[in-house]
Amino acid sequence: MKIVVCIKQVPDTTEIKIDPVKGTLIREGVPSIMNPDDKGGLEQALRFKDEFGAHVTVITMGPPQAEAILREAYAMGVDEAILLSDRKFGGADTLATSYTLAAALRNLEFDLLITGRQAIDGDTAQVGPQIAEHLDLPQVTYVEDAKLLGDKTLEVKKATETGYEILEVDMPCVLTILASGYEPRYMSISGIMETFERPITLWSSENISVDPEHIGLKGSPTRVMKSFTRGAKAKGTLYDEVTPEEAADIIVEKLREKFII
Ligand code: FAD
Repeated sequence: MKIVVCIKQVPDTTEIKIDPVKGTLIREGVPSIMNPDDKGGLEQALRFKDEFGAHVTVITMGPPQAEAILREAYAMGVDEAILLSDRKFGGADTLATSYTLAAALRNLEFDLLITGRQAIDGDTAQVGPQIAEHLDLPQVTYVEDAKLLGDKTLEVKKATETGYEILEVDMPCVLTILASGYEPRYMSISGIMETFERPITLWSSENISVDPEHIGLKGSPTRVMKSFTRGAKAKGTLYDEVTPEEAADIIVEKLREKFII
């Protein structure tokens, strides 16, 4: 079984502050981390490696410093790492990102492609499903667990708003993974010791088959018109010393006022 996991380096958004005047993110001094959903995806891939000896490759598109998360992935137990990096990829929106990643993935053989559900900086949850469309592969999103049934079929647990669904999907396919389903393993001591000796394959736009009109800023139809922080909410109404029955009546009344019920 060959698995490729797409991982993205993101700023640790728990450490990010917004510039109140410009409305932009203050990134200076903010540490970069592996996107949490991608770490969940990596854990799923490494479980298949533990169980069946699956071969796990990680790929990231980003600037040279994105190498750090590939080294972290090596220390967690992956077999191969690819950095897709080129100034021509800069300014990519989700469409250009997924187009470029899909082009790189055409160079690789795999049975299973795993992405995170969502990156904590861009937050769109579009890249995984878009890659599946570019490669014409079946996809299951919001996955919290996967098991192999036979040779070519996966049984997956897909989270929904009201609970979960158990689905079967044939490989090759794409799964987008939710961090909530997984407790990613720590890097091993031997993995940390060896990680800086492991090779990282570097691919630029020369190594993949892409139309220059569809990559980077040129290939990105999205325009961010304005970004701003949400204003403070109005103070709520406080009801003191009401019985549970009175509280229920008040809630029902408020919901009726807003035509929710
Ligand atoms: P999501 O769709 O939420 O990610 C889902 C999953 O897809 C991730 O969990 C991960 O597994 C995979 N994935 C996503 N991105 C990558 C990646 N790069 N490598 C590997 N796997 C990935 N960002 C920049 O870093 N530099 C820029 O110059 C830049 N310019 C932009 C310009 C515009 C106009 C816009 C709108 C956005 C720009 N961005 C840029 C943000 C960038 O487009 C998104 O971060 C990126 O496309 C991924 O979208 P997302 O973060 O919403 O990922």
